[in-house]
Amino acid sequence: MAKVDINQAHPVFKLRLERILADLTSLGWKPRIASLKRSTAEQAEKVKQGYSKTMRSWHVESTVGMLPVGRDRFNQVFGSAADIIDKRYGWAGLAANKDFKFWKDLGRVAKKHGCSWGGDWKIKDVAHVEMHYIEMPTQSTAIA
Ligand SMILES: [Zn+2]
Repeated sequence: MAKVDINQAHPVFKLRLERILADLTSLGWKPRIASLKRSTAEQAEKVKQGYSKTMRSWHVESTVGMLPVGRDRFNQVFGSAADIIDKRYGWAGLAANKDFKFWKDLGRVAKKHGCSWGGDWKIKDVAHVEMHYIEMPTQSTAIA
């Protein structure tokens, strides 16, 4: 597994990742970021292999969402995602169980630091944490 450089993360997300990793470490885990950013081509490959269901992944930097604000305005939403594992287990052995204590701790700690956790999704992605942010002023849907 290639080593993931945390400095590639958006500065706000990086700060939260560092806190999540520190909390997990203090609980006795050996957390490691398994995946951070992907190119559009890498995401397409994940979808093809069945590891991901969507091209609109927050692992992909070009993903942008639109959040309606009232009737005629919207916010552009950006996001970041990371997959975090315990390096002793990865996704195998005890970690193959989605109720494994590490995943539960990861979910709790991620939410404490303002991220959402893939383990809460209908199709569970227990290693996955993400956050969304709005960096630009609200925009009008009217075409100038
Ligand atoms: Zn993920």
